[in-house]
Amino acid sequence: MRSSAALLLSLIVSVTASKAYSPLPAGIVIAESPKADIPFDLQQLKQRWIERIVAIKQAGVLPIIDIESSFNPGRLNARTYAQAMDDNGIALTAFSPQIGEKKYNKKGSLWHEASRRAIQVDPSRYIPATTAGIYPAFTKQPEAFVEMSLRKVKQQGYPMLGEFEFRHYMSPRQFKRGQTYRDVAIDIDSPAAEKLFEFSQRTGISFQIHYEIEDQLLPPLEKMLARYPNARVIWCHLGQVRYSNRSTRYQADYVRYLIDHYPGIHFDLAFGNAESIYPGSGERQSRVWRPDGSADPAWISLINDHPYRFLAALDIGGDRQDKLHQKANSLRRFLQYLSPQAREIVAYRAAWRLLFNEEIDI
Ligand SMILES: [Zn+2]
Repeated sequence: MRSSAALLLSLIVSVTASKAYSPLPAGIVIAESPKADIPFDLQQLKQRWIERIVAIKQAGVLPIIDIESSFNPGRLNARTYAQAMDDNGIALTAFSPQIGEKKYNKKGSLWHEASRRAIQVDPSRYIPATTAGIYPAFTKQPEAFVEMSLRKVKQQGYPMLGEFEFRHYMSPRQFKRGQTYRDVAIDIDSPAAEKLFEFSQRTGISFQIHYEIEDQLLPPLEKMLARYPNARVIWCHLGQVRYSNRSTRYQADYVRYLIDHYPGIHFDLAFGNAESIYPGSGERQSRVWRPDGSADPAWISLINDHPYRFLAALDIGGDRQDKLHQKANSLRRFLQYLSPQAREIVAYRAAWRLLFNEEIDI
Protein backbone atom coordinates (compact mmCIF):
# COMPACT_ATOMS: atom_id res chain seq x y z
CA MET A 1 0.00 0.00 0.00
CA ARG A 2 2.67 2.41 1.06
CA SER A 3 4.76 1.90 -2.02
CA SER A 4 1.81 2.39 -4.40
CA ALA A 5 0.87 5.55 -2.55
CA ALA A 6 4.46 6.73 -2.89
CA LEU A 7 4.42 5.88 -6.59
CA LEU A 8 1.19 7.79 -7.07
CA LEU A 9 2.66 10.77 -5.24
CA SER A 10 5.79 10.73 -7.38
CA LEU A 11 3.64 10.57 -10.51
CA ILE A 12 1.65 13.59 -9.38
CA VAL A 13 4.85 15.45 -8.59
CA SER A 14 6.41 14.62 -11.95
CA VAL A 15 3.28 15.66 -13.85
CA THR A 16 3.23 18.94 -11.95
CA ALA A 17 6.96 19.45 -12.42
CA SER A 18 6.76 18.80 -16.14
CA LYS A 19 4.49 21.83 -16.50
CA ALA A 20 6.96 24.11 -14.76
CA TYR A 21 9.22 26.32 -16.85
CA SER A 22 11.66 26.68 -13.94
CA PRO A 23 12.23 24.64 -10.79
CA LEU A 24 9.26 24.93 -8.44
CA PRO A 25 10.15 26.44 -5.06
CA ALA A 26 9.36 25.05 -1.63
CA GLY A 27 5.74 25.36 -0.54
CA ILE A 28 6.32 27.96 2.13
CA VAL A 29 4.99 31.44 2.65
CA ILE A 30 7.58 33.94 1.51
CA ALA A 31 7.92 35.52 4.95
CA GLU A 32 9.34 32.20 6.22
CA SER A 33 12.14 31.96 3.67
CA PRO A 34 15.71 32.96 4.52
CA LYS A 35 16.97 36.12 2.83
CA ALA A 36 19.05 36.27 -0.33
CA ASP A 37 22.48 37.84 -0.06
CA ILE A 38 22.82 41.46 -1.01
CA PRO A 39 23.55 43.20 -3.21
CA PHE A 40 21.48 41.06 -5.55
CA ASP A 41 23.53 39.26 -8.18
CA LEU A 42 21.61 40.68 -11.12
CA GLN A 43 23.89 39.13 -13.75
CA GLN A 44 23.19 35.67 -12.46
CA LEU A 45 19.50 36.37 -11.96
CA LYS A 46 19.17 37.74 -15.48
CA GLN A 47 20.59 34.52 -16.87
CA ARG A 48 17.91 32.50 -15.06
CA TRP A 49 15.21 34.92 -16.17
CA ILE A 50 16.25 34.69 -19.82
CA GLU A 51 16.20 30.89 -19.64
CA ARG A 52 12.69 31.02 -18.26
CA ILE A 53 11.46 33.48 -20.88
CA VAL A 54 12.94 31.28 -23.61
CA ALA A 55 11.29 28.16 -22.14
CA ILE A 56 7.86 29.84 -22.18
CA LYS A 57 8.37 31.01 -25.75
CA GLN A 58 9.44 27.55 -26.83
CA ALA A 59 6.20 26.17 -25.42
CA GLY A 60 4.37 28.49 -27.81
CA VAL A 61 3.18 30.93 -25.12
CA LEU A 62 3.79 34.69 -25.15
CA PRO A 63 5.91 35.32 -22.03
CA ILE A 64 4.78 38.18 -19.82
CA ILE A 65 6.78 40.28 -17.40
CA ASP A 66 4.38 41.63 -14.78
CA ILE A 67 5.98 44.96 -13.90
CA GLU A 68 3.61 45.90 -11.12
CA SER A 69 2.36 43.61 -8.37
CA SER A 70 2.57 43.57 -4.61
CA PHE A 71 2.07 40.84 -2.09
CA ASN A 72 1.40 40.09 1.52
CA PRO A 73 4.60 38.20 2.37
CA GLY A 74 2.95 36.38 5.29
CA ARG A 75 0.25 35.01 3.05
CA LEU A 76 1.89 34.25 -0.28
CA ASN A 77 2.75 30.58 -0.75
CA ALA A 78 5.76 30.53 -3.06
CA ARG A 79 4.95 27.19 -4.66
CA THR A 80 1.26 27.84 -5.29
CA TYR A 81 2.04 31.20 -6.81
CA ALA A 82 4.86 29.79 -8.94
CA GLN A 83 2.50 27.19 -10.34
CA ALA A 84 -0.11 29.84 -11.11
CA MET A 85 2.54 31.91 -12.92
CA ASP A 86 3.57 28.92 -15.01
CA ASP A 87 0.00 27.97 -15.81
CA ASN A 88 -0.55 31.50 -17.15
CA GLY A 89 2.77 32.08 -18.92
CA ILE A 90 3.84 34.80 -16.51
CA ALA A 91 7.62 34.77 -16.84
CA LEU A 92 8.49 37.25 -14.10
CA THR A 93 6.77 39.36 -11.51
CA ALA A 94 8.27 42.54 -10.14
CA PHE A 95 7.59 41.84 -6.52
CA SER A 96 6.87 44.62 -4.09
CA PRO A 97 6.18 43.59 -0.51
CA GLN A 98 3.48 45.33 1.48
CA ILE A 99 3.90 46.52 5.05
CA GLY A 100 0.66 45.81 6.86
CA GLU A 101 -0.95 48.12 9.39
CA LYS A 102 -0.01 45.87 12.31
CA LYS A 103 3.69 45.83 11.45
CA TYR A 104 3.69 49.56 10.89
CA ASN A 105 1.84 50.33 14.10
CA LYS A 106 4.05 48.04 16.16
CA LYS A 107 7.44 48.99 14.81
CA GLY A 108 6.91 52.05 12.65
CA SER A 109 8.47 50.05 9.82
CA LEU A 110 9.26 51.90 6.61
CA TRP A 111 10.88 48.92 4.93
CA HIS A 112 10.21 45.24 4.33
CA GLU A 113 12.89 42.67 3.61
CA ALA A 114 10.54 40.27 1.85
CA SER A 115 11.94 40.90 -1.63
CA ARG A 116 15.15 39.26 -0.43
CA ARG A 117 13.16 36.32 0.89
CA ALA A 118 11.27 35.97 -2.38
CA ILE A 119 14.50 35.94 -4.37
CA GLN A 120 15.96 33.32 -2.05
CA VAL A 121 12.99 30.98 -2.31
CA ASP A 122 12.32 31.48 -6.04
CA PRO A 123 15.07 33.30 -7.93
CA SER A 124 13.64 32.31 -11.32
CA ARG A 125 10.33 34.12 -11.06
CA TYR A 126 10.73 37.38 -9.14
CA ILE A 127 12.33 40.68 -9.97
CA PRO A 128 13.14 42.32 -6.65
CA ALA A 129 11.34 45.64 -6.18
CA THR A 130 11.27 47.96 -3.20
CA THR A 131 8.52 48.06 -0.59
CA ALA A 132 5.11 49.19 -1.86
CA GLY A 133 4.48 52.91 -1.27
CA ILE A 134 1.04 52.50 0.21
CA TYR A 135 -0.90 53.14 3.42
CA PRO A 136 0.18 53.40 6.16
CA ALA A 137 3.97 53.75 5.84
CA PHE A 138 4.21 55.94 2.73
CA THR A 139 0.95 57.78 3.35
CA LYS A 140 1.91 58.78 6.89
CA GLN A 141 5.62 59.44 6.34
CA PRO A 142 6.15 60.07 2.63
CA GLU A 143 9.54 61.72 2.79
CA ALA A 144 11.08 59.34 5.31
CA PHE A 145 9.67 56.40 3.38
CA VAL A 146 11.24 57.58 0.12
CA GLU A 147 14.58 58.24 1.82
CA MET A 148 14.57 54.73 3.24
CA SER A 149 13.64 53.21 -0.14
CA LEU A 150 16.43 55.04 -1.96
CA ARG A 151 18.96 54.02 0.67
CA LYS A 152 17.96 50.38 0.25
CA VAL A 153 18.09 50.57 -3.55
CA LYS A 154 21.71 51.62 -3.27
CA GLN A 155 22.65 49.11 -0.54
CA GLN A 156 20.84 46.09 -1.93
CA GLY A 157 20.94 46.70 -5.68
CA TYR A 158 17.27 46.82 -6.68
CA PRO A 159 16.71 47.27 -10.41
CA MET A 160 13.47 49.21 -9.78
CA LEU A 161 11.27 50.82 -7.16
CA GLY A 162 7.71 49.73 -6.38
CA GLU A 163 4.50 51.70 -6.75
CA PHE A 164 4.05 54.93 -4.79
CA GLU A 165 0.50 56.03 -4.22
CA PHE A 166 0.43 59.79 -4.71
CA ARG A 167 -3.22 60.27 -5.55
CA HIS A 168 -5.17 57.14 -4.84
CA TYR A 169 -8.91 56.69 -4.64
CA MET A 170 -10.20 53.67 -2.82
CA SER A 171 -10.11 50.63 -5.08
CA PRO A 172 -13.51 49.04 -5.79
CA ARG A 173 -12.80 46.50 -3.04
CA GLN A 174 -11.72 49.16 -0.55
CA PHE A 175 -14.73 51.25 -1.48
CA LYS A 176 -17.08 48.38 -0.70
CA ARG A 177 -15.26 47.77 2.60
CA GLY A 178 -15.47 51.46 3.52
CA GLN A 179 -11.68 51.80 3.83
CA THR A 180 -11.68 55.58 3.45
CA TYR A 181 -8.09 55.80 4.74
CA ARG A 182 -7.05 54.44 1.33
CA ASP A 183 -8.22 57.69 -0.24
CA VAL A 184 -4.87 59.43 -0.20
CA ALA A 185 -3.34 62.56 -1.68
CA ILE A 186 0.37 63.38 -1.65
CA ASP A 187 1.37 66.11 -4.08
CA ILE A 188 3.39 64.96 -7.08
CA ASP A 189 5.64 67.99 -6.59
CA SER A 190 6.06 67.45 -2.83
CA PRO A 191 9.52 66.93 -1.30
CA ALA A 192 9.01 63.14 -1.30
CA ALA A 193 8.25 63.19 -5.02
CA GLU A 194 11.17 65.52 -5.75
CA LYS A 195 13.52 63.00 -4.15
CA LEU A 196 12.16 60.18 -6.30
CA PHE A 197 12.28 62.09 -9.57
CA GLU A 198 15.75 63.42 -8.85
CA PHE A 199 17.06 59.96 -7.96
CA SER A 200 15.59 58.37 -11.07
CA GLN A 201 16.90 61.15 -13.30
CA ARG A 202 20.39 60.63 -11.89
CA THR A 203 20.50 56.81 -11.81
CA GLY A 204 18.11 55.69 -14.57
CA ILE A 205 16.29 53.47 -12.05
CA SER A 206 12.55 53.50 -12.64
CA PHE A 207 9.75 54.04 -10.16
CA GLN A 208 5.98 53.62 -10.37
CA ILE A 209 3.28 56.06 -9.48
CA HIS A 210 -0.37 55.56 -8.73
CA TYR A 211 -1.88 58.85 -9.76
CA GLU A 212 -5.58 59.14 -10.47
CA ILE A 213 -6.55 60.84 -13.67
CA GLU A 214 -7.96 64.30 -12.99
CA ASP A 215 -7.61 67.52 -14.97
CA GLN A 216 -6.18 69.38 -12.00
CA LEU A 217 -3.50 66.74 -11.38
CA LEU A 218 -2.03 66.91 -14.88
CA PRO A 219 -0.16 70.28 -14.74
CA PRO A 220 1.90 69.43 -11.63
CA LEU A 221 2.85 66.06 -13.13
CA GLU A 222 3.92 67.73 -16.37
CA LYS A 223 5.92 70.26 -14.38
CA MET A 224 7.88 67.39 -12.79
CA LEU A 225 8.33 65.58 -16.11
CA ALA A 226 9.71 68.78 -17.62
CA ARG A 227 12.02 69.38 -14.66
CA TYR A 228 13.29 65.77 -14.68
CA PRO A 229 12.99 64.67 -18.32
CA ASN A 230 15.12 61.56 -17.90
CA ALA A 231 13.44 60.31 -14.74
CA ARG A 232 11.88 56.95 -15.56
CA VAL A 233 8.34 57.11 -14.35
CA ILE A 234 5.85 54.32 -14.85
CA TRP A 235 2.37 55.77 -14.53
CA CYS A 236 0.35 52.73 -13.51
CA HIS A 237 -3.14 51.83 -14.76
CA LEU A 238 -3.31 53.31 -18.27
CA GLY A 239 -6.69 54.82 -19.03
CA GLN A 240 -8.23 54.19 -15.63
CA VAL A 241 -10.61 57.11 -15.20
CA ARG A 242 -12.87 56.79 -12.20
CA TYR A 243 -14.85 60.02 -12.37
CA SER A 244 -15.38 61.29 -15.90
CA ASN A 245 -16.49 64.72 -14.63
CA ARG A 246 -13.02 65.23 -13.11
CA SER A 247 -11.22 64.25 -16.30
CA THR A 248 -11.94 66.00 -19.57
CA ARG A 249 -8.45 66.20 -21.10
CA TYR A 250 -7.09 62.70 -20.76
CA GLN A 251 -7.55 60.68 -23.96
CA ALA A 252 -5.22 58.59 -26.09
CA ASP A 253 -4.13 61.84 -27.77
CA TYR A 254 -3.10 63.36 -24.47
CA VAL A 255 -0.99 60.30 -23.64
CA ARG A 256 0.56 60.57 -27.11
CA TYR A 257 1.41 64.19 -26.35
CA LEU A 258 3.08 63.16 -23.06
CA ILE A 259 5.12 60.49 -24.85
CA ASP A 260 6.19 62.95 -27.54
CA HIS A 261 7.26 65.57 -25.01
CA TYR A 262 8.69 63.64 -22.09
CA PRO A 263 11.21 60.86 -22.81
CA GLY A 264 10.97 59.25 -19.36
CA ILE A 265 7.24 58.63 -19.06
CA HIS A 266 5.97 55.05 -19.35
CA PHE A 267 2.61 53.44 -18.66
CA ASP A 268 1.54 50.07 -17.42
CA LEU A 269 -1.44 48.07 -18.61
CA ALA A 270 -2.90 47.13 -15.22
CA PHE A 271 -6.50 48.13 -15.84
CA GLY A 272 -9.82 46.44 -15.31
CA ASN A 273 -11.72 44.56 -17.94
CA ALA A 274 -14.37 46.13 -20.14
CA GLU A 275 -17.17 45.49 -17.64
CA SER A 276 -15.35 46.81 -14.57
CA ILE A 277 -17.41 49.52 -12.83
CA TYR A 278 -16.06 51.96 -10.26
CA PRO A 279 -18.53 51.98 -7.36
CA GLY A 280 -17.87 55.63 -6.46
CA SER A 281 -19.21 56.90 -9.77
CA GLY A 282 -21.04 53.93 -11.21
CA GLU A 283 -18.97 54.41 -14.37
CA ARG A 284 -16.88 52.03 -16.39
CA GLN A 285 -13.35 52.79 -15.25
CA SER A 286 -11.25 51.32 -18.07
CA ARG A 287 -11.29 53.72 -20.98
CA VAL A 288 -9.17 51.51 -23.22
CA TRP A 289 -12.22 49.33 -23.83
CA ARG A 290 -15.31 50.30 -25.79
CA PRO A 291 -18.78 49.58 -24.44
CA ASP A 292 -19.11 46.58 -26.74
CA GLY A 293 -16.10 44.99 -25.02
CA SER A 294 -13.59 45.50 -27.83
CA ALA A 295 -10.41 47.56 -27.43
CA ASP A 296 -10.59 51.21 -28.48
CA PRO A 297 -8.60 51.63 -31.74
CA ALA A 298 -7.22 55.02 -30.63
CA TRP A 299 -5.41 53.36 -27.72
CA ILE A 300 -4.29 50.42 -29.83
CA SER A 301 -2.70 52.62 -32.49
CA LEU A 302 -0.98 54.71 -29.80
CA ILE A 303 0.56 51.59 -28.25
CA ASN A 304 1.48 50.16 -31.66
CA ASP A 305 3.30 53.42 -32.43
CA HIS A 306 5.20 53.53 -29.11
CA PRO A 307 5.33 49.99 -27.73
CA TYR A 308 8.42 50.55 -25.60
CA ARG A 309 6.51 53.08 -23.49
CA PHE A 310 3.95 50.49 -22.37
CA LEU A 311 4.47 47.62 -19.98
CA ALA A 312 2.42 44.55 -19.18
CA ALA A 313 1.22 44.43 -15.57
CA LEU A 314 -1.23 42.45 -13.45
CA ASP A 315 -1.51 44.59 -10.30
CA ILE A 316 -1.86 41.63 -7.98
CA GLY A 317 -2.14 42.85 -4.39
CA GLY A 318 -2.24 41.39 -0.91
CA ASP A 319 -6.05 41.19 -1.04
CA ARG A 320 -6.20 39.51 -4.46
CA GLN A 321 -3.33 37.06 -4.67
CA ASP A 322 -5.71 34.42 -6.01
CA LYS A 323 -6.66 36.54 -9.04
CA LEU A 324 -3.66 35.83 -11.23
CA HIS A 325 -5.51 33.67 -13.74
CA GLN A 326 -8.35 36.16 -14.17
CA LYS A 327 -6.00 39.15 -14.53
CA ALA A 328 -3.64 37.36 -16.91
CA ASN A 329 -6.62 36.43 -19.10
CA SER A 330 -7.84 40.00 -19.23
CA LEU A 331 -4.36 41.31 -20.08
CA ARG A 332 -3.85 38.72 -22.82
CA ARG A 333 -7.21 39.61 -24.26
CA PHE A 334 -6.09 43.22 -24.63
CA LEU A 335 -2.66 42.28 -26.01
CA GLN A 336 -4.38 40.37 -28.81
CA TYR A 337 -5.46 43.67 -30.34
CA LEU A 338 -1.86 44.90 -30.75
CA SER A 339 0.31 44.27 -33.78
CA PRO A 340 2.43 41.11 -33.33
CA GLN A 341 5.57 43.20 -33.00
CA ALA A 342 4.10 45.58 -30.41
CA ARG A 343 2.56 42.68 -28.50
CA GLU A 344 5.96 41.05 -28.03
CA ILE A 345 7.50 44.35 -26.91
CA VAL A 346 4.76 45.27 -24.44
CA ALA A 347 4.62 41.73 -23.01
CA TYR A 348 8.27 41.56 -21.94
CA ARG A 349 10.80 43.36 -24.15
CA ALA A 350 9.91 46.88 -22.96
CA ALA A 351 10.31 45.92 -19.30
CA TRP A 352 13.68 44.36 -19.97
CA ARG A 353 14.94 47.42 -21.77
CA LEU A 354 13.63 49.81 -19.15
CA LEU A 355 15.12 47.89 -16.21
CA PHE A 356 18.43 46.80 -17.69
CA ASN A 357 19.23 49.33 -20.43
CA GLU A 358 19.63 46.60 -23.01
CA GLU A 359 17.55 44.63 -25.49
CA ILE A 360 16.72 41.15 -24.31
CA ASP A 361 18.89 38.88 -26.37
CA ILE A 362 16.53 36.11 -27.47
ZN1 LIG B 1 -2.09 51.27 -8.35
